[in-house]
Amino acid sequence: MTDEDWMRHALMLAARAEAAGEVPVGAVLVKDQQVVAEGWNQMISSHDPSAHAEMLAVRQAGQLLQNYRLPECTLYVTLEPCSMCAGMLVHSRIKRLVFGASDYKTGAAGSIMDLVCHPKLNHQLEVTAGVLAEECSMMLSTFFQRRRAEQKRLKQQKGPLEIVEKTFGNDGDVDLT
Ligand SMILES: [Zn+2]
Repeated sequence: MTDEDWMRHALMLAARAEAAGEVPVGAVLVKDQQVVAEGWNQMISSHDPSAHAEMLAVRQAGQLLQNYRLPECTLYVTLEPCSMCAGMLVHSRIKRLVFGASDYKTGAAGSIMDLVCHPKLNHQLEVTAGVLAEECSMMLSTFFQRRRAEQKRLKQQKGPLEIVEKTFGNDGDVDLT
């Protein structure tokens, strides 16, 4: 299996998140060309801001391998990890990170900061960015376009009483992860 093959696997997991109404991000942890663990975004359904795809995959891998360090593993994730996940990847001692789309708002593997290769931290990951980037970002942008259209339609259905919500609504900010 090549990096692209594994990224397709991660995209399939991202589709599971999308089917559940979550932002479509998927992650798969691989060791010796075998799947160790899989994850996809579940923040909304689990009421857990830390339930990012890569976080869930790595937690599951730790349980399965009975080790909080995962030195021989590669993590494939469809979106560049945030600072929380990037920090967790350093703690986990994962060897290699491969991601698809860059996240210019919260990405911590090179976009707004680089935690996974920071020379002052005690572990640096090997990073490959941009694998199937177009497919990965297309999945996200299609999701957000559809969600914005749905929100617009819902607003149009509402009467004047909802003017307060329109003024103070919380749909201005869109988190990718
Ligand atoms: Zn994250």
